Amino acid sequence: MNSLLHIVGARPQFIKLAMIFRALCHRPGLTQLVLHTGQHYDTNLSQDFFNDLELPKPAINLGVGSVGTSIQCARMLEGICHYVQRERPRLTVLYGDTNSTLAGALAATQAGIPVAHVEAGMRCGNLYMPEEINRVVTDHLSEILFCASETARANLVNEGLGSREVHVVGDIMLDCFNYERARRPLSLDTLARYGLDPKGYILVTIHRAENTDDKESLESILSGLALVAATQQVLLPLHPRTKARIMEEPQLGRHLSNLKVIDPVGYHDMLTLESYARVIATDSGGVQKEAFYCGVPCVLLRGTTEWRELVDLGAAILGNCKNPRILAEQIVDAAHQRWERSTPYGTGNAANAIAEVLVRRVPS
Ligand code: UDP
Repeated sequence: MNSLLHIVGARPQFIKLAMIFRALCHRPGLTQLVLHTGQHYDTNLSQDFFNDLELPKPAINLGVGSVGTSIQCARMLEGICHYVQRERPRLTVLYGDTNSTLAGALAATQAGIPVAHVEAGMRCGNLYMPEEINRVVTDHLSEILFCASETARANLVNEGLGSREVHVVGDIMLDCFNYERARRPLSLDTLARYGLDPKGYILVTIHRAENTDDKESLESILSGLALVAATQQVLLPLHPRTKARIMEEPQLGRHLSNLKVIDPVGYHDMLTLESYARVIATDSGGVQKEAFYCGVPCVLLRGTTEWRELVDLGAAILGNCKNPRILAEQIVDAAHQRWERSTPYGTGNAANAIAEVLVRRVPS
């Protein structure tokens, strides 16, 4: 069978998958299979995205759930291994830098199925970050590497991967962003639902292990946000992982009293909230780029970023996550950040470029 297997498991991967799945769905003779590892399982991080992005039900959901990284990867490896042995897809497509990406790369390679990696070559330079490990290992196991920028390609060349099939296609998240904004206009009703005024609030997301698993760092960020919230509205769609940490450490919860804390929102609502924010403070890879695409200043709740161009352009600054007072000042002052218009990640044609390469590899 001429099948191509997409392996996904986390919210940003469902968004990226949607664009590529759509770009491939009318190709004659090509069967697309979707394997969901179950890394994200909350309805508002998983099923809602499948419904909203009009994705088909996955062929299989491994249901690995929320366990430690190694056990989670082991469960994924076992499940993916059985599935690829049975289905023998011609190619596996992996997205980004999650544990599902890493497990997909290992399991497919061990089964002799070639791997294509979307968002290849991203590096923040910190190998202690689980996402960086996942990126490096996945790239080294991939035959086809789709890069969002020339910097990403250069990173691959530096690691000796220049002779692989490398394509600079731009950022797939920009395709998603453009598609979604064209599909449904932004509506101020979304803001009204949360009692917000356009450009009258700071939007925050926090979910990276480097923040959630480091109590000091999380405490410092939350107390910085509490300082900001003394003078401005701060909206925090709270990721379940961060929520779980806060529940475990009740003293962290006191910093939330002046913040507007909501459940994670759907993709369209998120794009609306981003577009009308005064400033976005985030540790998310996707949200920092969306801030840039919306023209909204961004403070990164991290010491490094793999989307380095955003910092070089002045669209994003690295927040001081160790000092709440400085972080609060950075967030307030960021409203005045200005930068030159530029397109370091292309203009939103990544999905078609990727689809062309994939169909050549899996001919009908
Ligand atoms: N997102 C969303 N709802 C939320 C928070 C984020 O739809 O409540 C979207 C966001 O617009 C972006 C993606 O999720 O497209 C980013 O995912 P996440 O921050 O979980 O992961 P990362 O990009 O850091 O890998």
